[in-house]
Order: sequence, then structure tokens, then C-alpha cells
Amino acid sequence: MRRRRVEEEILKIFDQMDAENQKISKEKEFLKTEEAKLAEQKKKFNEEVARIKTEAESLNVQRVALAGKIDKAILAKYDRIVKSKDGLAVVPVAGDSCQGCFRILPSQVIHEIRTKKELVCCGSCARILYIEE
Ligand SMILES: [Zn+2]
Repeated sequence: MRRRRVEEEILKIFDQMDAENQKISKEKEFLKTEEAKLAEQKKKFNEEVARIKTEAESLNVQRVALAGKIDKAILAKYDRIVKSKDGLAVVPVAGDSCQGCFRILPSQVIHEIRTKKELVCCGSCARILYIEE
């Protein structure tokens, strides 16, 4: 009788252990899936970084090629404006206002832009202006 009780206890413990083991293997399974998801995301992220790098390189090549065609003084002016105006150096005119600082431009300035004889800059934000056709 006593022996039977001991066996029952042992079986109970084994049963609990089985349940724990199943829980653990479920957790492991879950972890595996999450790790796979994470690896996939990491891969996509790395691909995106590589794509952006390639794009930036080709834009840089284009920029150098274009810069060679532009008058040095104008290029220097452009670079100066880009640096001081958060990368936005060339802005359109909408209605009669500069789309960089939204100030109303004198009609003389708008006329100058229309004639396209030389670069015209906004009197208040100094960005290069153009009129969208
Ligand atoms: Zn402006």
C-alpha cells in the first residue's frame, strides 16, 4: 500500500514535469518564431540601408556632374543657402509669395524671375526663386 502511494506521487510529479516541459517547448517555439520575424525585419532593414546608400552615391555622382556645368559663383551661393536653410535652397513662387518664407514678393522681383536672365533670390530668406510653368 505504501509503495503504491509512492508510485502515485512519482507519477504525479512526472505529470507535472511533462506539463512544464510542454510549456517550455511552446515558449521555445514562440521564441523561434519571434527570432525568425526579427531576422526577417533586420534583413529588410539592411536591404533598405543598402538601397539608400546606393541611391545617395548615384545622386552624389549626378551632383558632381551637374556641379561641373554650373557657374562656380552660383554653385557657391547655392551651397551657402542649402547649408543655412535646412537643405532647401530653391523654392517656387506661388501667387506672389515666396514658398520658402511666404513673404509677398515685389512685382519687380517676380518680373525679374519671369525674364530668366539671372538667378533671383528672395529678399527675406535669400532662397533662389523660380516660377512653376
Ligand atoms: Zn523667401
